[in-house]
Amino acid sequence: MRYIYGPVKSRRLGLSLGISLTAYKACSFDCLYCQLGRTTLKTGQRKEYVKESEIITELKDWLKDNPVQARQLKFITFSGFGEPTLNSKLSVLIKKIKNLTKTKVCVITNSAHLVSTLVRKELANADLIIPSLDAATQAAFEKIDRPLAGIKISTIIDGLVKLRKSFRGLIWLEIMLARGINDSPREIKKLKEAVTQINPDKIQLNSPVRATTEPGILGLTSAKLKKIRAVFGNKAEIV
Ligand code: SF4
Repeated sequence: MRYIYGPVKSRRLGLSLGISLTAYKACSFDCLYCQLGRTTLKTGQRKEYVKESEIITELKDWLKDNPVQARQLKFITFSGFGEPTLNSKLSVLIKKIKNLTKTKVCVITNSAHLVSTLVRKELANADLIIPSLDAATQAAFEKIDRPLAGIKISTIIDGLVKLRKSFRGLIWLEIMLARGINDSPREIKKLKEAVTQINPDKIQLNSPVRATTEPGILGLTSAKLKKIRAVFGNKAEIV
């Protein structure tokens, strides 16, 4: 299989089959904490990085060859080797997958392209979107996510607010917190203001625990994560 991986069992998604929609490390960010290594194709260009027909053929084969696991799947998740919303066949893929199986579709995204009305429309038939928001100030955003030049965090927050208004599925907003990078009281206050505006169904606080692209990126202590969770209120959980 070239584009499909897993299934992987996770606490938040249950049994999930992953699909990668991009070439290796095609992404508009180059996050300090990325587990895939440095971004080799830093781009905001949307195109059919991976042919939609090849993904669907692979998925059909997987579903046919793994009938027991297929029945147990909770999600088919777009994630993988880069930023899934860069694939211009997003909408077609979601529709075709829904014609093949009743399994819910989840899209994990860095949120950079949600400001586009077209991207939001293409995501409309997903069941769950897990967008990232690691900072609410431009300085912290650039430090942790190392975005493509010109991407503004205010635009990303605007895209997330618009997504919430139009999207009928679930939105679980993920915030990755790294020690000394985006965990200052000022940053958390600004993040809280942004999250209040966005109004996701859940806020998932995460912190690096495995090897990261840049050495020396540390996670927060469990006590600090709990304090921050309290700031975000009842919808927040530590994942
Ligand atoms: S957005 Fe995701 S794939 Fe892109 S660099 Fe960050 S963690 Fe890696």
